[in-house]
Amino acid sequence: EKALLQELKGKENVTADGRKINLYANIGGVSDVASVLANDASGIGLFRSEFLYLGTDDYPTEEQQFLAYRNVAETMAGKKVIIRTLDIGADKQVDYFNLGNEDNPAMGYRAIRICLDRPEIFKTQLRAIYRASYYGNLAIMFPMIISMSEVKRIKEIVEEVKASLREEEIPFKEIELGVMIETPAAVMISEELAKEVDFFSIGTNDLTQYTLAIDRQNAKLDSFYDSHHPAILKMLKMVVDNGHKGGCWVGICGELGADLTLTEEFVNMGFDELSVSPSMVLRVRDKIRKIGAK
Ligand code: PEP
Ligand code: MG
Repeated sequence: EKALLQELKGKENVTADGRKINLYANIGGVSDVASVLANDASGIGLFRSEFLYLGTDDYPTEEQQFLAYRNVAETMAGKKVIIRTLDIGADKQVDYFNLGNEDNPAMGYRAIRICLDRPEIFKTQLRAIYRASYYGNLAIMFPMIISMSEVKRIKEIVEEVKASLREEEIPFKEIELGVMIETPAAVMISEELAKEVDFFSIGTNDLTQYTLAIDRQNAKLDSFYDSHHPAILKMLKMVVDNGHKGGCWVGICGELGADLTLTEEFVNMGFDELSVSPSMVLRVRDKIRKIGAK
């Protein structure tokens, strides 16, 4: 099986009846980039930036972040790298943020909520990403979005960051901005959201948790955590259609994207991209290439 998968390197992600889909990989740190390239993913669909903040005892500086993002941008040599802005809180606690205890952290003070509440932290990350954009093919996506006002505020902050870089004559590129669709609210307003951004990436791990009201950390509930629930599948189709209507490309970066029993359905729904763990890239490619074979 290993050898068969190796033969798929360098091949296109195209179904036997000619439909193409982008196949990217998810990573959680700079050291994972090697496995992305080794498994021949054509980009990074989810670069979890939390690693920069975890395991240190103070906020990472703009320079530290810039060097990490530039390193990945350069190593990927022109392939797309989608950096997700900070998604701490809930299961990912960092002492120096002083987030405090919460009875219900998954529904708590986390991700974009912290970034919009503490814009200095957010601006530092955005400045580092924009500075690194000059060295490769970067894009940015924002986690845990629930409202249009968040997206409008994010875009204002992005414009402020770009204006200050221009003023300082620091080079950067105009890059795609996207939102993660991982709350039922984001699904329901996806038609409006699509007018504000360039792409959607569906976080099925959180979307399943919030839609089914099942804590993804609670092992007692594993048998109830059903990502194939018809409510989830209907949402996926709705997001693809609303995204396309508004001119967005639409992908999946949650674990469900690597579910081989759904690959054909994802292609039929019209997904433009699947982002999976590096070790799953060639398996998903294999599945894609068999779809529609006579
Ligand atoms: C998700 O929620 O599906 C996702 C990709 O993000 P994370 O697992 O990091 O919350
Ligand atoms: Mg998530």
